[in-house]
Amino acid sequence: MNIKDYKDIAVFVEQRHGEIQSVGLELICEAKKLAKVSDQKVVAIVLGDKVKPMADTLISYGADKVVYVEDAHLKAYSTEPYSQALFTVLDGLKPNIVLIGATTTGRDLAPRMSVKLNTGLTADCTLLEMKTVEGYDDKIVVTDNKDLLMTRPTFGGNLIATIVCPDNRPQMSTVRPGVMQKTEANTSLKGEVVEVKVSFDAKRFKVEVLEEVKEKSDAKDITEQAILVAGGRGIKKEELFKKLSVLADKLNGGVGSSRGLVDMGWADHGIQVGQTGKTVRPEVYFAFGISGAIQHAAGMEESGLIIAVNKDKDAPIFKIADLGLVCDLEPVINGLIDALK
Ligand SMILES: Cc1cc2nc3c(=O)[nH]c(=O)nc-3n(C[C@H](O)[C@H](O)[C@H](O)COP(=O)(O)OP(=O)(O)OC[C@H]3O[C@@H](n4cnc5c(N)ncnc54)[C@H](O)[C@@H]3O)c2cc1C
Repeated sequence: MNIKDYKDIAVFVEQRHGEIQSVGLELICEAKKLAKVSDQKVVAIVLGDKVKPMADTLISYGADKVVYVEDAHLKAYSTEPYSQALFTVLDGLKPNIVLIGATTTGRDLAPRMSVKLNTGLTADCTLLEMKTVEGYDDKIVVTDNKDLLMTRPTFGGNLIATIVCPDNRPQMSTVRPGVMQKTEANTSLKGEVVEVKVSFDAKRFKVEVLEEVKEKSDAKDITEQAILVAGGRGIKKEELFKKLSVLADKLNGGVGSSRGLVDMGWADHGIQVGQTGKTVRPEVYFAFGISGAIQHAAGMEESGLIIAVNKDKDAPIFKIADLGLVCDLEPVINGLIDALK
């Protein structure tokens, strides 16, 4: 099949226990922007045991078409049944682009799909653009807008690489939750809803999900908070780190952390902000004793207002902060808690 015959942007929309994961909606909104400049359609793909009712929501975020597979084998995520179902759908659609959320599920599924479809995959993209590339040295020539330029940090965040997949289709990319922005739903939008039936090869199922046990955690989802109070290695006492929760509660926000404190065992990886943690975009981000390494900044620099407290005036965090306090962080934390009493 000729490369030019592949068309449209397919978005794999992850659902867990019947709940659409936000990253799927973020990717539909991003796909809509790419579709607009390249005259393509957005096709949302959803797999599960009862998923048809989700179609309306996916259309309201901008999907022109929803393709769904309903089957008891897809009740809980398991690699083989999901791979077989997604491959059947993609093989039938022949999309130009496939976008998948870089969640635990997406990280498992996307590489398998790229092997089955004999194409490339660019993981953890932070920017997606449609352009046609001719020549790879220094010139990017825009002609018919059908190549996806996939930009992502590389070499530990020290370089930014833009990757293209000119010779194979589909062009595949994963994007972490929170990187792309979700726009408002519009319930007046219309779209087509199509069911695909899959003949599963159950002999290949190696794993059976017997039970799902949810991890118990009191921590709030940091990607959902309007105010985040984050701490780094500059917080030298564990009790001071615990005080960040008091401050966060008073501000009706959540607590985040740099990898520094996760490595020290003070903070859970679930609240780590950055390249190997989560991407957050709160209205206000407090950075207490965080140096602002590029890998941390990658996960929070899009925040509305960044307030940094650091005793080193040359700390890189001040390059992206809107408000900076060059001082010891302890009196600031205590002072804010007292002031908010
Ligand atoms: C591949 C890779 C992925 C990574 N992913 C991530 C990631 O996802 N998230 C992440 O955060 N990091 C990540 N890192 C690590 C990152 O490079 C930094 O090492 C880390 O962010 C540093 O954490 P920190 O800012 O808490 O500590 P430090 O860099 O040690 O900074 C501590 C800061 O506190 C200040 N300070 C000290 N005492 C006080 C005081 N009393 N009052 C005020 N300020 C004070 C210091 O001046 C300093 O700026 C990654 C690294 C690699 C190589």
